[in-house]
Amino acid sequence: MAKILLIAEHDGQALNPSTAKCVACAAAIAGAEIDVGVFAETAAGVAAEAATLDGVARVLTVENSANKDALAAVIAPQVVALAEGYSHIFGPSTTFGKDLMPRVAALLGVNQISDIMSVEGTHTFKRPIYAGNVVLTVEAPADQPVVATVRAASYSAVGNSNSAAIEATDCSAQLPTHSRFVELQAGSSDRPDLQTAARVVSGGRALGSAENFDIIFQLADKMGAGVGASRAAVDAGYVPNEMQVGQTGKIIAPDLYVAIGISGAIQHLTGIKDAGTIVAINKDEEAPIFEVADIGLVGDLFNVVPELTKALD
Ligand SMILES: Cc1cc2nc3c(=O)[nH]c(=O)nc-3n(C[C@H](O)[C@H](O)[C@H](O)COP(=O)(O)OP(=O)(O)OC[C@H]3O[C@@H](n4cnc5c(N)ncnc54)[C@H](O)[C@@H]3O)c2cc1C
Repeated sequence: MAKILLIAEHDGQALNPSTAKCVACAAAIAGAEIDVGVFAETAAGVAAEAATLDGVARVLTVENSANKDALAAVIAPQVVALAEGYSHIFGPSTTFGKDLMPRVAALLGVNQISDIMSVEGTHTFKRPIYAGNVVLTVEAPADQPVVATVRAASYSAVGNSNSAAIEATDCSAQLPTHSRFVELQAGSSDRPDLQTAARVVSGGRALGSAENFDIIFQLADKMGAGVGASRAAVDAGYVPNEMQVGQTGKIIAPDLYVAIGISGAIQHLTGIKDAGTIVAINKDEEAPIFEVADIGLVGDLFNVVPELTKALD
């Protein structure tokens, strides 16, 4: 039987939606018994949320003041201590999971499987490589714990009608002193979170400046959408890095994705492979984005976008 420990992602207050998607992946493993580990300073609120996720057997809380700021170097040895006896240890393939899980794998002396997009067996998984252009089937050794990250965009969140047991645990791991939290710099916005928004509007290099990018924000606000950007727009300094969509940015799966002044490079497309409907606005009718778009609008964005925004008044 597969005994799976899934590491919850949270901000100390609320569970990140990636955790419910990881549970869906874990539940696809035959005979899975799924426990969720919550590492926090105070875990009660997050643990209560995790306990509602369908398919979860137990929520294990590890409270420690050192867990206040979710430092991978500090959490990893505690995960290893808690993971004793588990056959699989999963985390989301978000920034949090990509930081934490390789450390867990290294401490256990195993290879990590990255970005599981489908479960083929207890130790066999599919994962994308080359910006999603090739899908590999990988098999992990059956005599070692499987440490893996789950590609959240490939899974729908499980329901939340469960009431799993919550157990406080004592992790006697030696914590490193070489890493300490200094400060978190994050953009604050009232807009829907890019990674979980049902609708996303993204702008590219064609916007030309940070000031011009405002028309993307205005359209997104009318639509109640999150805002993303191509790497070219980020590199040019129009918007911060946390808004980048794509291979080296965020992998997202909104119901509706609107790409404005974005050419459709494969590295960008890999970030929106699982989007529902893709709308592209581009003045070049030969732009590769039109090959993947469900709806294409050929035109100058500086005319089209303000008109669309006005039409939504
Ligand atoms: C290892 C690696 C990783 C990468 N990771 C990412 C990633 O995560 N995300 C990402 O996005 N890119 C990534 N890139 C970069 C990627 O290859 C492209 O360079 C980038 O996506 C291009 O951004 P863009 O579409 O905004 O710009 P461009 O390719 O320059 O496209 C601009 C588009 O705007 C159109 N346009 C111009 N003016 C107007 C107008 N007035 N109205 C309407 N349309 C107009 C043009 O026709 C063109 O199609 C990566 C590259 C590498 C090598």
